[in-house]
Amino acid sequence: MFDNLSERLGRVVKNLRGQGRLTEANIQDALREVRVALLEADVALPVVREFIAKVKDKAMGQEVLQSLTPGQMLIGIVHKELAALMGEQAAPLSFASQPPAVFLMAGLQGAGKTTTCGKLVRLIRERGKKKVLLVSTDVYRPAAIDQLKTVAGQAEADFFPSTPDQKPIDIARAALDHARRHFHDVLIVDTAGRLHVDEAMMEEIKELHKALDPVETLFVVDAMQGQDAVNTAKAFNDALPLTGVALTKLDGDARGGAALSVRQITGKPIKVVGVGEKLTGIEVFHPERMASRILG
Ligand code: GDP
Repeated sequence: MFDNLSERLGRVVKNLRGQGRLTEANIQDALREVRVALLEADVALPVVREFIAKVKDKAMGQEVLQSLTPGQMLIGIVHKELAALMGEQAAPLSFASQPPAVFLMAGLQGAGKTTTCGKLVRLIRERGKKKVLLVSTDVYRPAAIDQLKTVAGQAEADFFPSTPDQKPIDIARAALDHARRHFHDVLIVDTAGRLHVDEAMMEEIKELHKALDPVETLFVVDAMQGQDAVNTAKAFNDALPLTGVALTKLDGDARGGAALSVRQITGKPIKVVGVGEKLTGIEVFHPERMASRILG
């Protein structure tokens, strides 16, 4: 992921080494490389433009122009701006003071919602919240309910059964009531996903949001979606007050640009990343570390 960016930047530094002072032309050349690398990594064009403008602004400062190690300095600026673009600091999952804390999962079919529900259980337990209940409101695909049941079993979390003849909103209300009565710390609500964003799906999840008043409304998005992730993110962000993003499949051959675009487009922090099919394949997202990983 982002191999090209580190490779290209490596070349930039090499070229700049021994050049003594930087000139505006040097910086333009270097920024062109950065721009191409970001586009190759599937970062959305408007995001790339804004990023380059910011880096250019800083790089044109006298300090860099007069520095004896201009290449390193430029890389430092790129690093800092990358981290800033992704939100600077890790954004922890939040829990309501009045349990159960409800987590509502939103996203397209195949994004990794159900898997992420199971993965979150471990992270939640690490935060001292032991009693977790999972429920599926996906009444359109009976297999989806079974899949969540399996995942709940693997994660050793409680499972609230639902059936395809029920209404999603009724399932959600019943699960919330159950969680309250049985003193669950967290209720994770998996929702139906469609292959494309459609109005009925958005109305349904808006209604669920209203009934559940979740403390976390997480948009689950597949990093492999690349440019498409931006449109999906925008649609969900417009429909729901998202609190964060779960970016999945970062272990695949995703070019990773979605990490940069989704944050910029939604303004919401990436809270967790999926790095494998297994339930252990989840990490808290650290913008600083990601920036270092990108730059190699
Ligand atoms: P949903 O339709 O949004 O509930 O998506 P699923 O949870 O069923 O996931 C769809 C597919 O993506 C499944 O085959 C998962 O095993 C896979 N998947 C989910 N998250 C990850 C991840 O972080 N890495 C990898 N490699 N595969 C993942």
